Amino acid sequence: MTRIAVNGAAGRMGQTVIETADDRDDVEAVVGFDVDDVDQVQDVPVVHADDVTEGLAEYEPDVVVDFTIPESTVALADACVETGTGMVIGTTGFDDEGFEALEAASESVPVLKATNFSRGIQALLRAIGEALQAVPDYDLELMETHHNQKIDAPSGTAKTILETVQEHRDVEPVYGREGHAPRDDDEIGVFARRAGDVRGEHELIAAGNDEVLSLSHHAEDRSVFAAGALDAAAWLAGQNADWYEFGDVIDAQ
Ligand code: NAD
Repeated sequence: MTRIAVNGAAGRMGQTVIETADDRDDVEAVVGFDVDDVDQVQDVPVVHADDVTEGLAEYEPDVVVDFTIPESTVALADACVETGTGMVIGTTGFDDEGFEALEAASESVPVLKATNFSRGIQALLRAIGEALQAVPDYDLELMETHHNQKIDAPSGTAKTILETVQEHRDVEPVYGREGHAPRDDDEIGVFARRAGDVRGEHELIAAGNDEVLSLSHHAEDRSVFAAGALDAAAWLAGQNADWYEFGDVIDAQ
């Protein structure tokens, strides 16, 4: 049984992680952290984020699952290094400095970061290389849709899809288009829509030669991300200090 802490316990994803953990017998949520003034989520005690180091020392989780904001994750990394706690990071929107702080932490504790913990997105990422090999000169466009509370744009997942495309095609992103905006052969349009409570939709299209190929994914419930993050936490508990990705968990199956 892997003991987990949940950073951002009162948030949309934090609550879903705690609910999902409750239905599993390989992980147990032992403590949550949040800046929101809540005492507990479900039956899990929530400690204020100011006291995260003390909370980790008291409840001794193996791994912290983090779905917050970048500033919180970076502060959490210091506490995890101090207490020898592994990190599963779902938060998106890091700048270079934040990302480097997490990489530095991975020299002391195991750190697994994924912009998307759904297995379907992992499958989509793996399919991109093969697909683009068959349509090497088709125009590429990338679109994502998320709920109206999402802070960062484009989504972390869209950035990961873009990076994966760029491993196979020399394309430069153009974020939205307006006015006189003819398309270049070597560009990929990237579009972010924000509406309602959409959990997460991503679509990469490749068009040319009188056809359109679409690689798309829809998350229908946040529990898909929670399940992946908990799979990652259970796996990470047995690993040494290093940097890991969600693909490592899938490869290990
Ligand atoms: P949310 O706003 O509902 O929840 C964030 C929570 O973090 C809130 O409860 C907030 O009070 C808390 N928080 C803020 N600052 C904190 C701090 N310093 N210490 C502790 N807690 C703090 O957001 P959400 O929808 O749950 O998303 C959170 C993050 O997860 C976003 O970056 C989002 O893009 C990302 N996300 C990733 C995946 C994935 O699969 N990797 C899936 C969904 C969401």
